[in-house]
Amino acid sequence: MQEIGHWINGKMVAGKSGRFAEVYNPATGELQARVALATADELAHAIAEAEKAQPAWAATNPQRRARVMMKLGDLINQHMDELAELVAREHGKTIPDAKGDVQRGLEVIEVCMGAPALLKGEYTDSAGPGIDLYSMRQPLGVVAAITPFNFPAMIPLWKMGPALSCGNAVILKPSERVPSTSLRLAQLAQEAGIPDGVLQVVNGDKEAVDGLIDNPTVQAIGFVGSTPIAQYIYGRAATNGKRAQCFGGAKNHMLIMPDADLDKAADALVGAGFGAAGERCMAISVAVPVGDETADRLIEKLVPRIEKLKVGPYTAGNDVDFGPVITRQAQERILGLIGSGVDQGAKIVVDGRGLKIQGYENGFYVGPTLFDNVTRDMDIYKQEIFGPVLSTVRAKTYEDALNLVIDNDYGNGTAIFTADGDTARDFASRVNVGMVGINFPIPVPLSYYTFGGWKKSAFGDLNQYGPDAFRFYTKTKTVTARWFSGIKEGAALNFKALD
Ligand code: NAD
Repeated sequence: MQEIGHWINGKMVAGKSGRFAEVYNPATGELQARVALATADELAHAIAEAEKAQPAWAATNPQRRARVMMKLGDLINQHMDELAELVAREHGKTIPDAKGDVQRGLEVIEVCMGAPALLKGEYTDSAGPGIDLYSMRQPLGVVAAITPFNFPAMIPLWKMGPALSCGNAVILKPSERVPSTSLRLAQLAQEAGIPDGVLQVVNGDKEAVDGLIDNPTVQAIGFVGSTPIAQYIYGRAATNGKRAQCFGGAKNHMLIMPDADLDKAADALVGAGFGAAGERCMAISVAVPVGDETADRLIEKLVPRIEKLKVGPYTAGNDVDFGPVITRQAQERILGLIGSGVDQGAKIVVDGRGLKIQGYENGFYVGPTLFDNVTRDMDIYKQEIFGPVLSTVRAKTYEDALNLVIDNDYGNGTAIFTADGDTARDFASRVNVGMVGINFPIPVPLSYYTFGGWKKSAFGDLNQYGPDAFRFYTKTKTVTARWFSGIKEGAALNFKALD
C-alpha cells in the first residue's frame, strides 16, 4: 500500500505519527493509499523551518519572485495531463473537468506573474512643509492554507500563488482525501525556484489544523471547506489574534424567468447542477422557475437532458459526463437525503438511486436526480447536499424568487436567466450573494477579479485571489517623513492639520 507523507524543506518525508487516513479511488472504491496525519511536533517543526526560510524569500525582489511564478505556470502547463490524472484518481472527476480544475488554478498563478504591480505602495509628495508620506506592503511571515477535497489543484494554487508572491512562507494542509496533487505542485514549485522551506505541505486532520491555528508563528489562516468548520476556524483564529478568511459551503439558486430561453436555461442547469457530481461550491443546487407554466416547460426540457447523462469512471474519457462522489460516506449521506426528499413530499422526477456501473460496482456513484415541488422546510432544501441532486422550488413571482435567495443562509453564488435587462439589473443589485451570474450559471469570477461569498459562505475579510488576496497576504506600513531644510517650526504640542 502506498504511504503518503509530507513535503518539508524541499523533500518528501514519511510521517512519524503512526496515524493515517485512507485515500480511495472513488471510481473503483479501492483503497489506493494511506496518508500520514501529522503530529503537533511534526507541524511545529515544519512551521519553525518555514520561519527560518521566509526572510530571504521576502528579501528577494518582487520581480524575481514573479519570475518564479512564471516558471511555475510553465511547469503546470507542461504537466497538465499528469496533474489532471492525479486529481481524477483521488477525486473521481472526469479528465476534462480535472484539467479545468488545474486551469482555474493556473490562471491565478498567471495574475501572480504581475504581483509587483499589485504590491506597489502609495506616495504623497509634500503632504506638509518638507513632509512626504508613503505606504508599503510587507509580507505577513508564515501563513497557513487549509483546503477542501473538491478542487485538489485549483484551491491550493489560489492560496499558494498570492501568498508566495507577496513574500510569505506557506504551510499548506490539503484535504486528507486528495493529498497527492498538493505534494506534486510543491515539487513543481521547487523546480520553478521556490526555496526549500518556503512552501511546506503538511498532511493531517483536525489535530494539524488546530496546531496551525494555535501556533504563534502562523500569522494568517486561509481556509476553504464546509461552513461549520469555516466558522469554527474563523472563531479560533480570531481569538488567537490572527488574520483569517474562511470560505464555507453553499446553496446556489438559479432563477428562471418566464421570458428566459428555456433550452439555454436547461443546458445551464444540467452543467451547473451535475458537473463534477455536484461537488462544486458554485454548483447550482436549486432551480427557481417563476410561474407554473415556466416550471412545467423547464422540467419537460430538463428530464431528457438529465436522463441522457452518463456517469462513470474518469478512465472512460469523453464517454462520461460526471464521476463518483468522494467517499462511501458521502454516497450514503446523499442517498439518505434523496430518500428524505421523497418522504417529506417532494416529487422525484429523475431518481438517481440504485445506479450500478458495470465493472465498477464498488465505486461511489450516485445517479443524477431531479426533484420538483421542493419547499423551504425540506431537508433537501435546507442542507448543502454536495451531490448530483437538483431541487426545483417553484416561485409565483419574481419577488418571491428573489426573497427565497435573500432568506437563504448561504450566499456564495446565484444566477438569473432572463431576456429582460431591467430584471437582471434589479436582481444583481438587490440580491445578497457574493457572485452573481446573468444568463451564466456558475459565475466564478476570472482570476483578476476576486472570489468570495456572503452570509454563511464566508467568514472574515477580503476575498480569494485578485487584488484582495494581495491585501490579505500583506500588512500595510505607512511612513511620514520630514526633512528640515528651510523649516523653522519649533516644538508642536497640538495635534493639527498640516499646512
Ligand atoms: P471540510 O470542511 O470537511 O474540510 C475542509 C478542510 O478542513 C480539510 O482540509 C479538512 O482536513 C479540514 N477539517 C475537516 N474537519 C475539521 C475539523 N473538525 N477541524 C479542523 N479542520 C477540519 O470540507 P470538504 O468536505 O473537504 O469540502 C467540501 C466543502 O467545501 C463544501 O461545503 C463546499 O461548499 C466547500 N467549498 C467552499 C468553497 C468556497 O470557496 N466557498 C470552495 C470549495 C469548497
